[in-house]
Amino acid sequence: MDDPKEFLKKATRFLQQQREMYGDFSVQVEDKSEIENKQVQEPDTPYKSEPQNQQQAEVSEENKAEIEVQKSTAELIEECSTLDELKALCEEAEELKTDLEGTNLVFGVGNPKADLMIVGEAPGYNEDQQGEPFVGQAGQLLDKIMAAINFERSDIYIANILKHRPPDNRDPEPEERQRSLPYLLKQIELIDPKLILCVGRISATTLLDKETSLGNLRGTFHEFHGRELMVTYHPAALLYNQKYKRPTWEDVQLLRKRYDELGGQP
Ligand code: URA
Repeated sequence: MDDPKEFLKKATRFLQQQREMYGDFSVQVEDKSEIENKQVQEPDTPYKSEPQNQQQAEVSEENKAEIEVQKSTAELIEECSTLDELKALCEEAEELKTDLEGTNLVFGVGNPKADLMIVGEAPGYNEDQQGEPFVGQAGQLLDKIMAAINFERSDIYIANILKHRPPDNRDPEPEERQRSLPYLLKQIELIDPKLILCVGRISATTLLDKETSLGNLRGTFHEFHGRELMVTYHPAALLYNQKYKRPTWEDVQLLRKRYDELGGQP
């Protein structure tokens, strides 16, 4: 057996080598409860049971918030039970924006229980400024057309396919229309109108999901998710071309007749 002094030297040298190779992993334990707490707080702990302490309870709340964030757009839209809730969701929705920066949301306006809903294309400059659809020249003509069949603006509900203004008043792109559509469909469901009037080709072809001319779609009623939908010319088209006045007049006469037959109020 080694001399105890030699043995001590060898052992010290061995420990020294081990430290050099692996580092000093000895732990100075002053308060054991600290270690226990650390284990409880470890976020990767594989088991998840009832929160063990306040901090863990807070983490659980955070997780819940994260799950909320991860809800799909469809789920968030589905959860809206009022127009105000839907409008609040639209305010936050990046996918409703166009590539024109700094625009305002133009959600929709009118009687939230309207039996007639008018759907246009997209807000223009004036609509963006005022946050309300159809307030420019085309809007004034729309008011006159409605007045001709005994509707005041406050009787009906007016919205657009897009809820933000596109740059240079260009036509809404197909992707923009598709991104906006789920919000508009929910808006229609919440208002629950008996009749929908699409003004212009963009509105009609988006809602009916048919690529065809306006001439092919107007003058008749289409089935739309259990409702009736009519198509006519956009009032802006009438401003530029008188020839659209007569067919528009015929369309809205039919619309009023059907509205009365369906018991529309007022
Ligand atoms: N044209 C539309 O289609 N919608 C508006 O709100 C204004 C002009």
